[in-house]
Amino acid sequence: MNTGLQLYNTLTRKKELFEPLNAPHVGMYVCGPTVYSDVHLGNCRTFISFDLIFRYLKYSGYKVRYVRNITDAGHLEGDRDEGDDKFAKRAKLEQLEPMEIVQKYTLGFHDVLRMFNTLPPSIEPTATGHIIEQIEMIKEIMNNGYAYEANGTIYFDVEKYSKTFNYTILTNRNLEDMLANTRELGGQDEKRGRLDFALWIKAKPETLMRWTSPWGEGFPGWHIECSAMSAKYLGAEFDIHGGGMDLAATHHTNEIAQSEACSHKQPAKYWMHTNMLTVNGTRMSKSAGNGFLPEQLFTGDHELLEKGFSPMTVKFFMLQAHYRSTLDFSNEALDASEKGFRRLMNALSLLDKLVPVESSDFEIDPIIDNCVKAMNDDFNSPVVIAELFEASRIINTIHDGKGKISSLELDKLKQLMQDFVYDIFGLKDEETSNLALNSVLDMVIDLRKTAKENKDYATSDKIRLGLQSMGIQLKDSKEGTTWNKA
Ligand code: AMP
Ligand code: ZN
Repeated sequence: MNTGLQLYNTLTRKKELFEPLNAPHVGMYVCGPTVYSDVHLGNCRTFISFDLIFRYLKYSGYKVRYVRNITDAGHLEGDRDEGDDKFAKRAKLEQLEPMEIVQKYTLGFHDVLRMFNTLPPSIEPTATGHIIEQIEMIKEIMNNGYAYEANGTIYFDVEKYSKTFNYTILTNRNLEDMLANTRELGGQDEKRGRLDFALWIKAKPETLMRWTSPWGEGFPGWHIECSAMSAKYLGAEFDIHGGGMDLAATHHTNEIAQSEACSHKQPAKYWMHTNMLTVNGTRMSKSAGNGFLPEQLFTGDHELLEKGFSPMTVKFFMLQAHYRSTLDFSNEALDASEKGFRRLMNALSLLDKLVPVESSDFEIDPIIDNCVKAMNDDFNSPVVIAELFEASRIINTIHDGKGKISSLELDKLKQLMQDFVYDIFGLKDEETSNLALNSVLDMVIDLRKTAKENKDYATSDKIRLGLQSMGIQLKDSKEGTTWNKA
């Protein structure tokens, strides 16, 4: 097991040696998407970064339980427990049931992440599937005296909590400044304190997603789901809690408060935050209107895009930046990534053609060491990419007959590429994948032709319908059969 991993902990504001509570087991919770609309590329950056972390922890010998939730209830438009419910609003707009919205965008989210070749989490719990756990947790917080009821809505009492705990522990802000910067309570407000936030919200007559609770019909506040589900699947104390940096100030701050008010324990030992994907310096977001969809990026169908870029090019572009640095989107940067990625894939395609000899001009161990050292230094993927380019240069030199390699060093080179390019970065060669798909399809079409010739229409129909269900449409003509993606 790799015991030299250092990671940056937002909680302590420094890099720390990673020492799991119960090695080799690691519990990691990452806040997932709010599935009322399509995920944009900024969201993808955060999930791709945690996929890298998940993969490297596994490579390091840890047994990771990776929990990433789906927020499918309780998300209001305003940050202050006000405004319309995002799901209900979208449901009205699309004339669907709220749970149809949830299903549609959950499936879309999975499709996008599959295109980026990320691994599925170990558990993907939903907020609507854990209403009971959330109610139980709210009851416990109330029993402990840190929450109060006002007209069917339950609020967390930040002032009371702050007497014993540090509400600003994660972001190191000054509580007085926070109070001064928060709108004063008006006559309409039910809250006692300006920073108080809702744990449970009373349903209005028109509220579509509602559940019964000891306080009447309502729905959970946004923050409680993550506290309840992380505790359920990882325990009151676990190793890593992550999400985008924008979540630290409110969502994660409130999560810590809820968990401490419930179990008197700080839930996660390490808090990790990924930095934002920006466009011309502005954070990519749905509300800013610059949040283009991964599909638009792949096809080039967006005013900001000069052409389309493949999923692996985009992923490579993201890996070329450290997860804690901002990453600014530009056509030029993606062009450069496209070239770099092709260079790496071309070198990889030559790897199997190299013929080893007795002696070697190259030693691969230093490159492997540098890659491990870089990943152990808070998952420094850009440094690893520089090393992979060095390995590519070695492959090209040998292939051009300008250098030689022994079978021992060649095996190490192959292992290096397998580990870092495929297993840890989760990259794949799209051209060879397409080539493989083409050959498989040619073979299947040929089998169907034989079936038809033998009047075995049951088999030929089965093939056609089977391909159709995978999104591949066959077209028969006099010249033969062709296919296209439906
Ligand atoms: P949401 O669906 O809005 O709850 O966001 C899902 C995740 O994406 C959260 O962890 C956010 O912090 C993250 N996120 C949102 N915008 C960006 C961005 N521009 N760059 C990177 N991560 C983001
Ligand atoms: Zn969360």
